[in-house]
Amino acid sequence: MTTLLQKERVLPLRVFVGAPNKTPQQTLWVTHSFCNLVQSLTSLIFPDRCVGCDIWGALLCASCYDRLHFLKVPAHLPHLSKQYFTDAYSVLAYESLAHDWIHQYKYHRKLYLAPLFISLLSKANLSWENYDSIVPVPLHWTRQVRRGFNPTYLLTNELGKKLGKPILPYLKKVRRTKPQTKLSQEERLKNVKGTFACNRHQDIKDLSLLLVDDVLTTGATVNECAKVLMKAGAKRVDVLTLARPL
Ligand SMILES: [Zn+2]
Repeated sequence: MTTLLQKERVLPLRVFVGAPNKTPQQTLWVTHSFCNLVQSLTSLIFPDRCVGCDIWGALLCASCYDRLHFLKVPAHLPHLSKQYFTDAYSVLAYESLAHDWIHQYKYHRKLYLAPLFISLLSKANLSWENYDSIVPVPLHWTRQVRRGFNPTYLLTNELGKKLGKPILPYLKKVRRTKPQTKLSQEERLKNVKGTFACNRHQDIKDLSLLLVDDVLTTGATVNECAKVLMKAGAKRVDVLTLARPL
């Protein structure tokens, strides 16, 4: 696992090495090799430290990996009166290390956690070949400005590149809402009602979509997003989040 996560580090650098006498495939190979070389050299100069215990050598050490609680089955959300998505998968239980990492990433801009999250999401217990595209759950633009980045967009963009799936950022949050974390289950459902819109119906018609968010709690937000996508013509919507509370 340690080696795996080391090898799968997401290189934040985008380098293009073009050569006039090379075919696109050769240029791609040169680009890829050069990126690997830069990544290897960077790893030598700045070796990873475990995000769980700070020891040197890997982004996540074997011991901390063993502390993670991986979830195998989709969420059961009986309180949703009508569920618009088919299945909702989460990679981890929202506890301990996972809780701390997601909080640090979202609210304290600890972006070095993104490669770990992308690696974990890509190993989710679902069949990737079933999905045509990935759709990130949007933030209202004012919240994005305040945070300085969109945590879910960042993850889904890299995840899409890693898995070769197109990202369709066609959902928009059209109204600001109170933070869901401060509300009861019933209030959460009301809070997000009518807050999302999609104006690209023709681009999602008949597609099987994977809706991605960071944490699944009541499912109110993803259900509202799935409702908009299904009404816009999607064939099927499943949900994937990094974590959900047990
Ligand atoms: Zn560790």
